[in-house]
Amino acid sequence: MEKPSTRGSGCYEKISPYYRLGKTLGIGSFGKVKLAQHVLTGHKVAVKILNRQVLNDAEREKVMREIKILRLFAHPHIIRLYEVIETRSNIYVVMEYMNCGELFYHITEKGRLEEAEARCFFQQIICGVEFCHLNMVVHRDLKPENLLLDSKRNVKIADFGLSNVMRDGHFLKTSCGSPNYAAPEVISGQLYAGPEVDIWSCGVILYALLCGRLPFDADNFPLLYQKIKSGKCTLPSHLSVGASDLITRILVVDPIKRMTIPEIRQHPWFQHHLPGYLAVPAIDVLQRVKQIDEGILDEVVKIGFNRYEVIECLQNKIQNEATVTYQLLCDQQFRVSNDHLGADPGEASGSIYSSSNCIGPTTSVPVHSMQQNEYMNPKEISPMLQFPSVERKWALGLQEGLLS
Ligand code: ADP
Ligand code: MG
Repeated sequence: MEKPSTRGSGCYEKISPYYRLGKTLGIGSFGKVKLAQHVLTGHKVAVKILNRQVLNDAEREKVMREIKILRLFAHPHIIRLYEVIETRSNIYVVMEYMNCGELFYHITEKGRLEEAEARCFFQQIICGVEFCHLNMVVHRDLKPENLLLDSKRNVKIADFGLSNVMRDGHFLKTSCGSPNYAAPEVISGQLYAGPEVDIWSCGVILYALLCGRLPFDADNFPLLYQKIKSGKCTLPSHLSVGASDLITRILVVDPIKRMTIPEIRQHPWFQHHLPGYLAVPAIDVLQRVKQIDEGILDEVVKIGFNRYEVIECLQNKIQNEATVTYQLLCDQQFRVSNDHLGADPGEASGSIYSSSNCIGPTTSVPVHSMQQNEYMNPKEISPMLQFPSVERKWALGLQEGLLS
């Protein structure tokens, strides 16, 4: 498997007094992703740098609106988005750092994975994608380069949302993403892009995990497109009956006949050793009204923020240094406490430089739920959720009008 070439350039200013930028983690189609350290907590983060010059005002608005919604997402298999910093030349998207790189490299290093390992990744990916679909977000660029690993070999979906905005308008023409994971209806240029396009990509990813190569590949685009549109791929004999059956039912050219996520969940191959925390779909994040964690609030206050201001900003979902510090500490706490994911806490807060200035939580605070660091003012719950009969519309990867 080969990656398409990427572009990225420019020199970058200091983003804020609160982050120290470190090494480059990756270069995407629209700019660099760098490692950084949050000065107040010592927490390591990844920062995606988007050049403002390449965004017109309308596109910038769209990016900011998507980010606003994506900041509400909290799922164990989706990269957490902490905050966005805008300067004169760049937009910096501050997100959770994954220290074991792309699933892409894991597959290319190993050739092909054992079914048990492939299934474990696939279960995590499907549950992350399901969560986004429940929240009316379609990824539209699912591929192993956008699936990142932590030190415990948990996979998380990256690149959510932004790719959707960029894929529309002039970005479409300049995008150099790989079409190997694109659904037949996408390469045929149909405008509608619902959740089925992500499911197709998950089928291609499952094939790549189990076979170490792509189901549809060719030296030139016309031939590749022809192969994708035919939906015919060879299933190697080493595949189990269950895995072959699942791939065949996902890689169905007609999106109406393609498996849905609830159907994938029912499939015996998927169900095998499905961990308890993934056994039921995560609840729609927008329906949750969250409590503020007192223990973590105490930590934020210890760092020097005013308790009442922090509470008010959290309730009103205002992004500032205090609320970001709160979120980072919540994630740190979550990583330390969570047995399923059990990410190495050092991964979150160890220094990226020679000395650490980590201020970790010192109190033992129970973690209430996977999404314990989300909170919503009941007044702000989307009208769509209060009136469920309103038709949901898939657009730009997000439901139009949601929280805008
Ligand atoms: P693009 O939209 O340009 O494809 P991505 O968000 O996919 O940008 O990031 C490009 C690359 O940067 C990824 O493929 C990955 O190697 C690295 N990267 C991105 N986000 C993170 C992260 N949160 N932690 C670690 N590495 C990351
Ligand atoms: Mg990417």
